[in-house]
Amino acid sequence: MISQADRGRGPVIVVADFLGAYSLRLIPGIREVLQARGVPLLVHVHDYFTPGVSPLLRHVFAGAGPRAAIVLPMSKAQSRDDLDRLLAAHPDVPAVALGTASGQRPSVRADNRTGMAELVRHVVDQGGVQRVVLVRGVPHHVDSVEREAAARETLAQAGVLLDESLVVEGGFARDVTYDAISALVRAGHRFDAVVALNDEMALAAVDALCDHGLDVPGDVLVTGFDDDETPHPRCSLTTVSQQLHQQGRRAAELVLDLMDGAPAHDVLVETTLVRRSSTARALPAAPSGTPAARAETGRDAVPAGQAAATNAALDLNRAFMSCAGEQDVMRELGARLARLQVSRCFVVLYDPAPEEHPAERRGRLALVHPGVVGAQGAPEAPRFPVADLLPPGVRHELAHGTLLLQPLGVRGHELGHVLYEQQSLLQHTAEVLRMDVSLALDTIARHRELEATVARRTEQLRREISVRERAEADLRAANAELRRSLHRDGLTGIANRSAFDEHLAWAWARHRGDGGELSLLFVDVDCFKLYNDTYGHLRGDTALRAVAQAMEAATLAPGDLAARFGGEEFAVVLPGTGSAGAVVVAERIRQGVRRCAIEHRASPVVPWLTVSIGVATTRPGGALVPQDLVQAADEAVYAAKTAGRDRAERRPVVGARS
Ligand code: GH3
Ligand code: MG
Ligand code: MG
Repeated sequence: MISQADRGRGPVIVVADFLGAYSLRLIPGIREVLQARGVPLLVHVHDYFTPGVSPLLRHVFAGAGPRAAIVLPMSKAQSRDDLDRLLAAHPDVPAVALGTASGQRPSVRADNRTGMAELVRHVVDQGGVQRVVLVRGVPHHVDSVEREAAARETLAQAGVLLDESLVVEGGFARDVTYDAISALVRAGHRFDAVVALNDEMALAAVDALCDHGLDVPGDVLVTGFDDDETPHPRCSLTTVSQQLHQQGRRAAELVLDLMDGAPAHDVLVETTLVRRSSTARALPAAPSGTPAARAETGRDAVPAGQAAATNAALDLNRAFMSCAGEQDVMRELGARLARLQVSRCFVVLYDPAPEEHPAERRGRLALVHPGVVGAQGAPEAPRFPVADLLPPGVRHELAHGTLLLQPLGVRGHELGHVLYEQQSLLQHTAEVLRMDVSLALDTIARHRELEATVARRTEQLRREISVRERAEADLRAANAELRRSLHRDGLTGIANRSAFDEHLAWAWARHRGDGGELSLLFVDVDCFKLYNDTYGHLRGDTALRAVAQAMEAATLAPGDLAARFGGEEFAVVLPGTGSAGAVVVAERIRQGVRRCAIEHRASPVVPWLTVSIGVATTRPGGALVPQDLVQAADEAVYAAKTAGRDRAERRPVVGARS
């Protein structure tokens, strides 16, 4: 809980949803009075387009809080309602409504009725005014209602009948008014004066009239209300000055009185009629270009440094385009603050909101101007609760002068806040600091988020792929193992009969296609029955394994396959091999078996184990089938046996049907 004493030391806060010409003329009045009393001022500017109260303002009230509040008109009903609720939750903070009436708190505002009455009387006094267009503001808006009532009353008193078809809605907005006036002109309505309930709508009416070939004030007189001093190239506007500076002063005085315990009361500030060329039939219209218009009416010059600040703002916007990180943004901003006439500036960037306690958000100081404090800008800078607005080392900066406080964020994402001071408040600076910095930071944050998402997804995919690859490798290994076991001879470990059949069919098909030569060897162990009889079946098996190894060792080309055909008979498929090559392989096998030097003393050939080999070669094609090749190899073995064993013999392949 915040103590009254803490609040008593806090600043007075001004809550505005836009820092335009209107608020920029109220605030200096407030500042003058508070400064004279040594009371610090904090001006919170929200985003005009986002309804509701900014989370930043809630942070401020949750922290040490302001000692009093001055509330400027809010354009959105939701903003007004949310702000009313926030202030109602802090009854110890005296509040004043400035610029508009409020049922919730005492108000300081212009005397709309007398101001409008004086203005309309002036219009009627120009003579010849019979048909008046009334451009209304926002329905039910107190300014709109009071100004309209006074305008109607005064016209009636002057005997000018208000034709209801000439009462149009302008919504206090440029575009709406421009369209409404254009529609009246196009529909052929005739009128000699336009009374708009504020200046913005009046100037839009001037544009619409001039764009349709009418002259202001020659054909139509135009009046506004507010005297917001927006320079306009086509005319200088007769209007009612709300004495905004004076209103600001009165609001500050009222809020100080309330803080001192004085009773609440409303204040109406007297308005003054400002006559300019838009109603002066006798005077020539203002020539194009604003300097003449200003000279004629004695307006203030554009604040010193506004042009330089506007240029700096444009430069900054351009520089942000190439910023890749927060520190780039802070560097570019820091480098231009002097040109923006900013004498003090602090940027605080927020950490992500803690999920259970979003109000306990923490942040770090990213920029201090002028000067460097601690590890400013560094991501590892010390954290502090954002409700404090500034970290302990620089908190005293809140205790003097006037600081503008703006949330940094886009589409409801809170990124941080900025606090800055400008001697003469300049339009555009507030928007540059809020919108351009927010957009630059948001772009960087989103870029980083996108990179993180891509990295996360890449890692996830990589994991999925490696799992799948491992599964596939396991499957491949299992398949290979299965194929091996299906195709392997149990005794010798080399290819079995079914593998031989498959391989022969494959080689046959291949050379049918490419016209290549295919050879087949049949290898039969000599006098093996005798071997078994002499040494026993177990040693016979061992001898068969040795012969198989010798055959495998002799077949070198990748497509060659040595297989056990059955019993003590083996076969070798030699794709792409002609007769001469096949004989070479046969000889290699024969020598290989010999080198095994397996004793076979019962053999009638030589006293060690030998083989007889049949060789057959063909080009698959025509009517030939694989069986013809097998037949020829078999016949060749038989020939080798007959010729004395331990040798290779060749036999031609003859088609079964030829
Ligand atoms: P030839 O020189 O004319 O080929 O005489 P051979 O005795 O080798 O031919 P034969 O066909 O009469 O006998 C083949 C022998 O091979 C008969 C069989 O006992 C033996 N044999 C076949 N398969 C195996 C086997 O898996 N293990 C063993 N130990 N002997 C086998
Ligand atoms: Mg045999
Ligand atoms: Mg044999």
